[in-house]
Amino acid sequence: MYVPRTVGLGIGFFTVAAALYPSHPPAWVWVALVLHGYGWSHMAYLLAKHSKKPYAAERRNLIYDSLLGGFWAGAMGLNPLPTVTALSMLAMNNIAAGGPRLFLVGCGAQIAGALVGWFMLLPALFPAITQVQVYACLPMLVIYPMAIGLVCYRVAVQLSKSKKALEKLSTTDSLTGLMNHGAWKDLLTVEFNNCQTLNRQNSVALIDIDHFKTINDTYGHIIGDNVLKQLSGVLTAGLRETDLAGRYGGDEFCVILPDTTLAQATDILERLRRTVHEHTHSALPDLKLSLSIGIAPYASHLTDAGMWLHEADMALYDAKSTGRNRVTSAKPGVRACETLSPELE
Ligand code: GH3
Ligand code: MG
Repeated sequence: MYVPRTVGLGIGFFTVAAALYPSHPPAWVWVALVLHGYGWSHMAYLLAKHSKKPYAAERRNLIYDSLLGGFWAGAMGLNPLPTVTALSMLAMNNIAAGGPRLFLVGCGAQIAGALVGWFMLLPALFPAITQVQVYACLPMLVIYPMAIGLVCYRVAVQLSKSKKALEKLSTTDSLTGLMNHGAWKDLLTVEFNNCQTLNRQNSVALIDIDHFKTINDTYGHIIGDNVLKQLSGVLTAGLRETDLAGRYGGDEFCVILPDTTLAQATDILERLRRTVHEHTHSALPDLKLSLSIGIAPYASHLTDAGMWLHEADMALYDAKSTGRNRVTSAKPGVRACETLSPELE
């Protein structure tokens, strides 16, 4: 609230001064008005900044604003135009910052402030409005809503950024930076529906590291984590931009290959399997990685995305059970699978 409060009080000074002037108040009233107009916003800022709970402190400051605004309304005898101008702007602050509850508390504070101001100075109630007072209200009516609008716009932009960041966080696997299980499965359903309605030729692959538990047991979980991270990098680099890779969980990864026939998907994943198998780590030359990969192409007999994934899972199972370090494809509706890495037979 620092900027709108500074702007509002700076121009509100003239609104109140024009309304007070005809009643010739004592000097202390002018001193108080100057301090409020040009000192309070900085003090309110410091109070909030140094508070352990800045948001709660700023809400308290808003109630002080209402109390002080009410005081000036009482001090000018509830002169209708400046009173309505100042108090409605304060009410707008309160409802924007704290909803109906802060609005009601603020109204109470305004009434209390008005009673104190009126009893302390006893001005004539509801004096006639002068031309000068009308002009003195105009800057407040024009400039202040713009300042509040700007603050609301900035808050909305900030909220939108935070929402996007949270959305990204909730769909990303924290270790590898790939899509997480839930996000990837949502995409699988979308791609399945696309295949059904647009007759696309998509393939799905499940990739599992062979004997990963042994890698963890031999080199420790930190190296294990690094292997998972590096593999996710190899996946991203080895796949096309349109391929949708995720971490299914543990040492298992999943990929949707849009507009890709079984033969094309096999080529891509076979290349990936070879790259990983042939890679040697300079710091850990004994660390050898191999992947088992199961592929299932979309086919018209599949009734839902779950069935599609199940076929890829069965293909992966067969890759594991027939010796690991291979790419295997599912045959529609057939439990047995075809091995696609002939040199490994
Ligand atoms: P297989 O060849 O049959 O796949 O054997 P495996 O050892 O790879 O399979 P298993 O499912 O028995 O072991 C997977 C291991 O992955 C067990 C678990 O401790 C480890 N793991 C799961 N998530 C993580 C992780 O985030 N970091 C690390 N370092 N290890 C993980
Ligand atoms: Mg494994």
